[in-house]
Amino acid sequence: MKRTHTVKRKRKRAGPSSPLLDPRNMDDDPVVQGILTAISQKRLKPGTKLGEDRLAKALGTTRIHIRQALAHLASRKIVMQFLNRGAFVYRPTWDEAREMFAARRVIEAATVSAAIDLLDKNGRAELKAHMAREAGHDRNDRWASLSLTADFHILIAKLAGNRVLLDMTRELMLRTSLAIATFERPGSPDCSPDAHPDIGSLVLARNKTAAIHAMAHHLEEIEERIKPDGDTRDDDDLTTIFKEIGVRSVNSANA
Ligand SMILES: [Zn+2]
Repeated sequence: MKRTHTVKRKRKRAGPSSPLLDPRNMDDDPVVQGILTAISQKRLKPGTKLGEDRLAKALGTTRIHIRQALAHLASRKIVMQFLNRGAFVYRPTWDEAREMFAARRVIEAATVSAAIDLLDKNGRAELKAHMAREAGHDRNDRWASLSLTADFHILIAKLAGNRVLLDMTRELMLRTSLAIATFERPGSPDCSPDAHPDIGSLVLARNKTAAIHAMAHHLEEIEERIKPDGDTRDDDDLTTIFKEIGVRSVNSANA
């Protein structure tokens, strides 16, 4: 009993946000989620400085909380941290960018294949509903487009019924999004919008060979748009970015 008590006291000294130190909880943390959303919507660009004070102010939380979130994101290679310089949105090297696409080709061939194997009535309905959403959405809404096209790849991974593959797909989607943002002109979509109906129809038709081929071709097309000299820099105001994507301040979200 005495031992448990000591452990508890020690944890308490880690600060008011100590439950956040549990890495299993960090994925759901609102600051982590806010930064991930801003990155996946390309509002936070590779190389953007993630100042603790500015983030704490923009998200209405403490610097300790921000520091924990940034350390977690650094462990996932979404953020890079430098001694005495602080944290920045991860800027992959050209070699890393190529490796991410190579990994996606392998992983997404596997998710397409498993999704077709497991496709049932519910899966079909979910895929059809997503395809209808993609077909019907306003393509001028750049931020919504980016989320929707990423969701297609994540849905295929969900339908594959393997959580490890799903986690890997989520991670690779984010990291390739950073690679695209680094090596392509700003504001370009991550996916060519006409590829998904094709892949989706082939999955629904359970045509495995053609579906895997269509996905591989789609990923090749995206990769062809990035160029080693396409590295661009831009900076946006953190408060504006989080306001625009609807991430509420942490304190008001908890209230
Ligand atoms: Zn796509």
